[in-house]
Amino acid sequence: MKYDDQNIFAKILKGEIPCKKIYEDEFILSFYDINPQKKIHALVIPKGKYIDLDDFSQNASNNEIVGLIKGINTVAKKLGISVDVGKGYRALANIGEHGGQEVPHLHFHLFGGEKIGKMVQ
Ligand code: AMP
Repeated sequence: MKYDDQNIFAKILKGEIPCKKIYEDEFILSFYDINPQKKIHALVIPKGKYIDLDDFSQNASNNEIVGLIKGINTVAKKLGISVDVGKGYRALANIGEHGGQEVPHLHFHLFGGEKIGKMVQ
C-alpha cells in the first residue's frame, strides 16, 4: 500500500486544514482529536509519511522512532497526564483494517483525564 498524500493528517501537516495544536517539534505534531472519546483525547503523529506502526517500524530512521516515543511522553507531560505529573493515560495505535484504523497516517491516541476503563470492549 502506498502512502496517500491526501489523507486528513497529511493535510494538517501541510497546514492545509487547521488543528488544535498541543505540541510540535522536529519529529512529531500533536493535536486534539476532533471527536474526543474521553475527557482528554490527543493525537500524536510523526511528521514523516508513514501509513501505520508496521510501516514506521520497518522504514523510519532510529531518530524518528526515538522522536515519536519521546514525543508521546512530552505531550503526556504537557497535558498533565503522564505518571510523573498526573495519573496516567492510555496510548493506543490502531493498525490496518482489523485494528480499525481510519486515517492512513500513523497516529497514537492518548486518552486521559479520567479512568479509561476496559482495554477492549
Ligand atoms: P483511527 O480510527 O485510529 O484512524 O482514528 C482516527 C481519529 O482521527 C479519530 O479519532 C477521529 O476523530 C480523528 N480525526 C479525524 N479527522 C480529524 C481532524 N481533522 N482533526 C483531529 N482529529 C481528527
